[in-house]
Amino acid sequence: MAKNLVIVESPAKAKTIQGYLGKDFAVIATVGHIIDLPTSKLGVDIENGYEMVYTTIKGKDKVIESIKKAVKATSGTVYLAPDPDREGEAIAWQVAQICKFPAKSEKARRAVFHEITKEAIGAAIQNTRDVDASLVEAQQARRILDRLVGYPLSMLLWKKIQFGLSAGRVQSAALRLIVEREDEIKAFVPTPYMTFTSKYKGTDVVFTLVDAKGSMVKAVPEQGNELKKLLDLQGKHEVIEHKTKTVTSSPPPPLVTSTMQQAANQTYGFTAKMTMKFAQELYQGVNIKEKGGLIGLISYMRTDSVNMSEQAIAAIRDLIEKKYGKEYLHDTARRYKTKSAVAQEAHEAIRPTHVELLPSMVREYLTPQQYKLYALIWRRAVATQMKPQILEEENVKTVPVQSEARTFVDKEKWAFETVAQREVFAGYRLLKHAEEKEIKPLPVVSKGDQLTVSEIKAENLMTTPRSRFNDATLVKEMEKLGIGRPSTYASIIGTLIARNYALREMKFLIPTEIGILVCNFLKKHFVKIVDYAFTAQMEKELDEIANATLTKKKMLEAFYPDFAKDIEEKNKSIVKEELTSLGETDKECRKCGTKMHLKIGPWGQYYVCPNEKCKNKEPFVDMTKYFVPEEVDKGGYILKKGRFGVFWAHPDYPEVKKTLPMLLKEVCPDCDAHLVERKGKTGRPFIGCSAYPNCKYIKSRFFKKGDAAKSGEASTAKSPAETTSIKKVVSKKVIKKSASKAKTKRTK
Ligand SMILES: [Zn+2]
Ligand SMILES: [Zn+2]
Repeated sequence: MAKNLVIVESPAKAKTIQGYLGKDFAVIATVGHIIDLPTSKLGVDIENGYEMVYTTIKGKDKVIESIKKAVKATSGTVYLAPDPDREGEAIAWQVAQICKFPAKSEKARRAVFHEITKEAIGAAIQNTRDVDASLVEAQQARRILDRLVGYPLSMLLWKKIQFGLSAGRVQSAALRLIVEREDEIKAFVPTPYMTFTSKYKGTDVVFTLVDAKGSMVKAVPEQGNELKKLLDLQGKHEVIEHKTKTVTSSPPPPLVTSTMQQAANQTYGFTAKMTMKFAQELYQGVNIKEKGGLIGLISYMRTDSVNMSEQAIAAIRDLIEKKYGKEYLHDTARRYKTKSAVAQEAHEAIRPTHVELLPSMVREYLTPQQYKLYALIWRRAVATQMKPQILEEENVKTVPVQSEARTFVDKEKWAFETVAQREVFAGYRLLKHAEEKEIKPLPVVSKGDQLTVSEIKAENLMTTPRSRFNDATLVKEMEKLGIGRPSTYASIIGTLIARNYALREMKFLIPTEIGILVCNFLKKHFVKIVDYAFTAQMEKELDEIANATLTKKKMLEAFYPDFAKDIEEKNKSIVKEELTSLGETDKECRKCGTKMHLKIGPWGQYYVCPNEKCKNKEPFVDMTKYFVPEEVDKGGYILKKGRFGVFWAHPDYPEVKKTLPMLLKEVCPDCDAHLVERKGKTGRPFIGCSAYPNCKYIKSRFFKKGDAAKSGEASTAKSPAETTSIKKVVSKKVIKKSASKAKTKRTK
């Protein structure tokens, strides 16, 4: 046995670190958390200071045994080295607990690093500390708070709406954002307006009619039609203004978790979850031949700090000077500052650990997605130390020469305008993304010139509502409102989708019927839980616990008694309504002929027979949820129903054995392919990825034992739920068992 032991949370990380440390060190992994709240009961000792009742996480006994054994065999130091945040601190503490190390231990030391490089690991081993009790307490407080809210609330939803539902703390506020945006879209009344553009002989540049403030004119139709008549009268416009000025554009700050998720979504269409997965892979270590093995390519990816270390800044500046020349190097080092809410978590921005490794140099060692994300992180970090881009901006304004038209636009202070920019010096934009467009050059004109109109275009348009949230805009909104933290943005969205409260369709997040129902129920009966300010306040208080300026006992004492009373009262006062029924339909019951009712279920709509003696259920095929591929229209495919459900069949089927699967509009959170409904070996339906077997994503479909306890608790990347990407579909037996259990609870 090696002299010293290093304990981390992930096997991939363990492997990379083992490569840096000699044979005096053994490196093992906990594979996420090892002890946690029980899944079958509340698990919080409310009478005794809101302490967690820990139990071993299912399947972790072996890991715990091997940790204990390894610790026993270690004569030197045990380094507790999980990730540098609250979740990591909690895992370090859990290991100390099971090995019975005291709070201040000589043998067990906490080692913290923000990047997995030889230097950083070496420094962390040299500068250890005790496990930080405040960070651990903050993690526990979040866990308990989520449990205290999620457990009773889910129970209430079962009783009052439908069995199997759940509600969590932070996700409910995020769900409200999605639902209210949908309400706004539904309530939106489009109004007509007109826009105008002009073009002139000898140039392709398009001029737009703008108001005095420079905004595009959206004329009401009467006014617009009048103007159109006047503009059609004569074909000459006069240049009334021609201005040139120099503008500079400075690089944006380096990436943090939220901006990385947004940028990767906008540039590459990655979901927040995909981005975090690829970032984690880059952070934990990639085999790079030039560097002699596994190295972590980027610094820690869960951070809200834009700070960069002095060494990192120096390395970037060195690279810029060597590779691009001194003229591109910003005169002084740019330093971005964020005041971290929690001092112990003072992270750095997400940046390359070895900036000399250009994206092109590591491309062959990375997956295409890892490469894209690495290039994005690298560009943004390097750009921060480069000179601003310098542009020459030209602004030309024209108005019609014809007097009535001229009088009309003058009265409104309108003019046709075009703005063009010419790059004088690229600066940091030297690193720009290859697909960015170049701008068309302007014609050479001077004030007073008359231009011959080649085209006047009046467009009749309708106002449109704000668009639905996508991963990028939702994360941005959550960050703005203070809902969630770098470690939870991706999992909040993931939980809403896993619960089927929202779907991702063509990148946009759409609430499901059941999601809307649950959200409105919470808004009506538990205002606080879906209140943005309250949710943000809770996050702040968790930060205070991490800073040791508040205790978890105090925080929970201030929150829980009122909430518990509220739950108790609502349990009595809310009458179970038929919230899920959509009323009678024309469909006749196959068994008894009664007109069936349509109902909303946790997984979409279904028919149910209202005849008390029959209660037959039949599936409802909601065509609006399917994506219709081009081939279906082109080939004249028709919808057929077979033993395995509906599918697209060739018009000459079954003579021509050509069929197409029913792709759902909803796309896979792991790989972006369309999802499909499939059946397992036992005939159980489930939703999987159409890219199977390349992608093994399965959307868990059925209510699982213990879900009430876990209800809506946003799992962070280190929780057991995310370490296994394939969620097993639970057998019938388990579902029946938990269903009957719930019934007995209901009668109590
Ligand atoms: Zn019936
Ligand atoms: Zn997939």
